Amino acid sequence: MARITLNKANFFHNLDIIKAQIKSIKKIALVLKDNAYGHGLCEMAKLAKEYGITRAVVRSNAEAEQIEEFFEYILVLADTPKTPSEKIRYTINDIHKIKEFPKGTLVELKVDTGMSRNGVGLTQLQEALSCIQTQGLVLESIFTHHACADELDGKYELQKEQFSKLKETVLQTLKLSFHSCNSAALFRDENCDEDMVRVGIAAYGCLELPFSSNAEKLKPVLSLYADKNSSRVLKCRESVGYGAAFSTKETVCVSNYDFGYADGFLRACSKEYKTPEGISIAGRISMDNSSFLSDRDELLIFNDAREVAKFAKTISYEVLTSLKHHIKRRIV
Ligand SMILES: *Cc1c(COP(=O)(O)O)cnc(C)c1O
Repeated sequence: MARITLNKANFFHNLDIIKAQIKSIKKIALVLKDNAYGHGLCEMAKLAKEYGITRAVVRSNAEAEQIEEFFEYILVLADTPKTPSEKIRYTINDIHKIKEFPKGTLVELKVDTGMSRNGVGLTQLQEALSCIQTQGLVLESIFTHHACADELDGKYELQKEQFSKLKETVLQTLKLSFHSCNSAALFRDENCDEDMVRVGIAAYGCLELPFSSNAEKLKPVLSLYADKNSSRVLKCRESVGYGAAFSTKETVCVSNYDFGYADGFLRACSKEYKTPEGISIAGRISMDNSSFLSDRDELLIFNDAREVAKFAKTISYEVLTSLKHHIKRRIV
């Protein structure tokens, strides 16, 4: 079987670094969407509570319900409530959807400062605020999301400026809280003094930035292991697996491990992949049988999603969120 271990010491170490960056544990909203970036929603929620985190961000109602007992504040990014809740806040992503929220719902208004994905436009702001009032919703915060916080030549500064202008205007009439930082923006802005930060990938230890920052001290939390199905010794010029994609160059021991793309390990890692211990893959990642040049009973497949991402030509977010729910997760 494939197995995931979650390193509690590394997670707490990352939270220490994040806390130092924002200078308050109360301001940390841990992003737990998509099964906590593949780490396991309830496992990470429990650990976060143990550390003292009081705020969480998720995608759906279903996720919010599963972790309601662990937090004082939960922000749902893309769902509407059945009945208003005291803990759960819902995001308004579109001015036309304000009508769908039941009276009394706690809401946060997303504004589009330049990402052009979700949120009301800056010119729609006043209209949105009055619709929220007419609908009888309880507005707590206004927030935005950065498109280029992890890119030096993008529009990060521009979005930041748009958001501070908006904040100044709104604050003249309404007392609300404001937030914009994801992981990259938090580590980019040494003096971040926002009311809250929405931190995902940094907490999981896989933030990558094109500039030097305290994020370099973060440590990956998740490791993937797999157990051996069988071993064989192959002579020179024998092939392994589908498409005979690998041929031996000498006599070697090849073992097959009980994991593959059905567990969410990306098939793009076929052929070139090497484990953190330098063990090479033999051929393709299969559905649930993948072979390596090894005789070990248990193989560490990866302990840093950023390294896997390089082999698969993708980002650590995809490597992590691809890991399926059925894999057993254990806190170590
Ligand atoms: C996913 C998400 C985040 C977290 O982003 P990271 O880069 O993982 O820190 C923050 N805010 C919103 C709106 C998101 O969708």
